[in-house]
Amino acid sequence: MASKEICLGIEGTAHTFGIGIVDGSANVLANEYVMYSPKEGGIHPREAANHHTEKAAEVIRNAMEKADISKDDISLIAFSQGPGLGPCLRTAATAARTLSLSLGIPLIGVNHCIAHLEIGRALCHCSDPVLLYVSGGNTQVISYANGRYRVFGETMDIGLGNMLDKFGREMGMPFPAGPNIERMAAKGNNLIQLPYSVKGMDVSFSGILTAALNKEGHSTEDICYSIQETTFAMLVEVTERAMAHLGKSEVLLGGGVVRNRRLFKMVSDMCQSRGAECFVPPPSLCSDNGAMIAWTGLIMHRAGIRMSLEETGINQRFRTDDVQVTWV
Ligand code: AMP
Ligand code: MG
Repeated sequence: MASKEICLGIEGTAHTFGIGIVDGSANVLANEYVMYSPKEGGIHPREAANHHTEKAAEVIRNAMEKADISKDDISLIAFSQGPGLGPCLRTAATAARTLSLSLGIPLIGVNHCIAHLEIGRALCHCSDPVLLYVSGGNTQVISYANGRYRVFGETMDIGLGNMLDKFGREMGMPFPAGPNIERMAAKGNNLIQLPYSVKGMDVSFSGILTAALNKEGHSTEDICYSIQETTFAMLVEVTERAMAHLGKSEVLLGGGVVRNRRLFKMVSDMCQSRGAECFVPPPSLCSDNGAMIAWTGLIMHRAGIRMSLEETGINQRFRTDDVQVTWV
């Protein structure tokens, strides 16, 4: 049995299969991952899961080598319990159960969205942020209130990353299209009107996608520029309102889309104008990764949370506010 706290975390909610190894001081000892990218079309859940199954052993081995530990050093296994694509979640959960049973160490299921927040909180040293989480499948504004991480605003249809990827696919860009769109947008400067869809604290992107695909007589650069300016402004608006309502003065960014420098600039400008601070983890810890799962599992376990094998079933629609947060 290991004496030190070392957690191996498995991420497998969608396209990424990741293994992270983290110690009790939030040192990331390893953070290895592989990404399934479809040859054409969107992510096919079954194919993504098959990809993860094929790669699992190799990624685990690589992570153990990187961390320079043996299996006896690991004290806890954590995995992404949801939300996500069923077949992918089952692959990660099966790998996690197998490791936990064979090593005789505890297993803990982690909410993926909360893990984005916790790794950011630990590495950026912010204490009580509003998390703007923008990934492929998710777009949420999350913050702590009364014992839970609560969702103060979210997309009513698709995640912004998926929207960018779908737009890019129609324009013939490779997957994921976000970075390409960012490069194109940097060359545009005419703002084309697109439906700015903020309803209360929620946003929606599918109307913008349809409108952008139907714009004729404009350059791709200008359309990309307009998509970014419009959708990012929507996100900044709801994030700022959440901060104002909650009286919070930190914003933490998470999810693959926050790698976008224009989004970071717009959120930073908003923070600066309110005397608030903006934090973003390193890129490899913004996208889906095993280290965030490992760290969140570790602090949950430290707070006394234990799960029986029956309690580690996957939950495709695992809500951020379903989890009672006893570790903050
Ligand atoms: P995640 O689901 O958190 O792993 O994030 C993946 C998503 O991030 C994909 O939809 C990508 O298109 C998107 N993405 C990655 N880099 C960028 C970028 N520089 N700008 C916009 N979106 C990005
Ligand atoms: Mg994610």
